[in-house]
Amino acid sequence: MRRILRRLYWVLGLVVFLCGCANPGTDAETSETELEPAKGANAEAGEKPKVYLTFDDGPCESTAQILDILKEYQVPAAFFVIAREEEELLPLYQRIVEEGHVLANHTASHVYEHVYADFDSLKEEIEELESYVEQVSGYAPEKIFRFPGGSTRGEKNLGSGVTEKLISWGYRVIDWNCSGDDAIRKGVTAQEIYESTIKTAQGKDPVIILLHSASYAPQTVNALPSILSYFQENGYVFGSLTDDDAPENWWLGSH
Ligand SMILES: [Zn+2]
Repeated sequence: MRRILRRLYWVLGLVVFLCGCANPGTDAETSETELEPAKGANAEAGEKPKVYLTFDDGPCESTAQILDILKEYQVPAAFFVIAREEEELLPLYQRIVEEGHVLANHTASHVYEHVYADFDSLKEEIEELESYVEQVSGYAPEKIFRFPGGSTRGEKNLGSGVTEKLISWGYRVIDWNCSGDDAIRKGVTAQEIYESTIKTAQGKDPVIILLHSASYAPQTVNALPSILSYFQENGYVFGSLTDDDAPENWWLGSH
């Protein structure tokens, strides 16, 4: 049954296009992007604003390229992974950790019908991902969780208390407040991903960027260098979700 669910992974691509794994509040209609300084708490205190880069739904064929770019720019990221069974993808779980990035939990199958069937099913999906990743990589993922479709999707299906429930199970819950909208439809260009990211980052601190490491977001890898350059050149500091000063939990309902 679970293998069948994983086979349904490709259905995920369609689901993401139709429902949007990205923040429904973001707007991809961007032309000229104004570059404004961040106005968040850290900036007001005279500190540099923090930015956290996150990639959902991987690993996939382009994850190795993403890791190469992150190494070149010396930027840490968090990968909210699912259980991919393709032989060639398995070493990527290990590589993510060994290159200093965070392996985080995005459920085993990402299939909404199973993940959100009930609380037991959600817990089973999370624990299955943990044991799967440990089995194929030798590393247990961090107890950092992102709901497939974000916390709004989790709360829509399992009620408004589900985020607190996850926290009571010992997980940190992290949504996003900035999105490249790289999986909202087919054919999104690298320039659109760059502009959506910059536009939705304005005035935020911390900035938590959502991008995808998935076959249905093929231009993300091409947008990445200019996204990293923008934040580095505009006085932001890239942080890791495992840093002491990283947000403990960050979800839309809490902001
Ligand atoms: Zn996802």
